[in-house]
Amino acid sequence: MDTIAATEFLPLVAAASTATDSLVVSLHDVAPATQEITESIILELARRGVRVCSLLVVPDYHHQGLFTRHRQFVSWLRRLEADGHEIAVHGYFHERPRSPNESLGDKFLTRFYTKNEGEFYDLSYDEALRRITTARDEFRAHGLKPRGFVAPAWLLGDEAERAARDAQMEYTTRLRTVCDLRSGEVFPARTLVYSVHNNWRRALSRTWNAAMFRFLKSKPLLRISVHPHDYSHRAIWGQILDFVRTLSGERTATTYQDWIAEQRLRRGI
Ligand SMILES: [Zn+2]
Repeated sequence: MDTIAATEFLPLVAAASTATDSLVVSLHDVAPATQEITESIILELARRGVRVCSLLVVPDYHHQGLFTRHRQFVSWLRRLEADGHEIAVHGYFHERPRSPNESLGDKFLTRFYTKNEGEFYDLSYDEALRRITTARDEFRAHGLKPRGFVAPAWLLGDEAERAARDAQMEYTTRLRTVCDLRSGEVFPARTLVYSVHNNWRRALSRTWNAAMFRFLKSKPLLRISVHPHDYSHRAIWGQILDFVRTLSGERTATTYQDWIAEQRLRRGI
């Protein structure tokens, strides 16, 4: 990284690092189409002490149009960033065209498991770099400062990960890890996440996440990943709020970029 970029990306943490454990709530699939739900989610979380979130914004969600065309959406993101929320890049289109040569395993992972949203699962380095740098520059041109890149459905191929690093993205996350792309450090930290596509998945998700929550409560970083459709299912949204309520006072709500910055300070990187 050259000097200018290094200065621009120098992490800034407002408070000296404290010994308390952290909670990161990430809001996925933020786009003009999901703005209203995301806004409600942010307000309800704030009322329960989670005042900052990592917002995973998709530049052109399902080819519905580039987010920059919506001036009100852009200024909303700028206000949120000014309030301490983080804007991260979350894919580009958030959908993956089907390839004729897919193995059965690929089909399972990309269609059944993720509903064709694994956009960065097998992109070439060049195409991944093009999409990530285009997204990054669009955000920056509108006064936003994205430092993280999270692939849709956390499916990030090796080539795409290299591209994210070369596009000066500071970190990425996966289902089970958070990775500092600058230092290469990988932190084990599984996220809670729901599958809401049908009744049995919703029921199973709640049981699974309740068990995972008990297990993850002892970990220094607890991650909760929220998708817009979670908010429409009251039992699921209620469980998420219960988790947040249980954690309030025990953990500091932070963003991925600040959490990564804190780890770097601790290690003197
Ligand atoms: Zn997503």
